[in-house]
Amino acid sequence: MTSRISRLVVAFVATAGATLGVTIANPSPASAAMTICYNTSQAGSFAGVANQAASIWNNATSNLTLSANCGNNLRIYSITGGGSYAQRTSLGNGRVYIDTRQAAQYSPLRIMSHEIGHILGLPDNYNGNCSLLMSGGSAGTSCTNPNPSSAEASRVTNLFAGTRVSGEDARGTGSQVFPDSWPAVLAPIG
Ligand SMILES: [Zn+2]
Repeated sequence: MTSRISRLVVAFVATAGATLGVTIANPSPASAAMTICYNTSQAGSFAGVANQAASIWNNATSNLTLSANCGNNLRIYSITGGGSYAQRTSLGNGRVYIDTRQAAQYSPLRIMSHEIGHILGLPDNYNGNCSLLMSGGSAGTSCTNPNPSSAEASRVTNLFAGTRVSGEDARGTGSQVFPDSWPAVLAPIG
């Protein structure tokens, strides 16, 4: 009887410990950097641009690290036609598609950094302002800025810290597709 109780106690402690372990394993986002592993095996000629965009985001934020080919949080694809877009499955996870035709008109690094911005929680903001990354193609083909503004960067940092503006609790983190950020440039007439 005694030994049976001992076993039960041991089992209970083990279960409680496991439960406790799960709780502790969820780090406080503010104190631990989150690693986002991106995969460039399908990125073709854009693999180097992906690495540059990852460095931009790593430098602009304080609590996340985009790291190459350590996993598949983010898969990056080279496509031809159909338009560049991002497909976010959850904050920090999804797929980015870079259209070679658009990359011949717009800065490939700006496209890459912008589309990764969607994966990191940012919406489009088509106001034509080149100092914003999420203005995308609305700033024209002459805009080559690949850097998020300080406001865009701090919003990403806040999202990954779990800090959200009141009333915005679901925005920026859910499953969403972001197409059509880079309008086709019309060929000159004549
Ligand atoms: Zn976009």
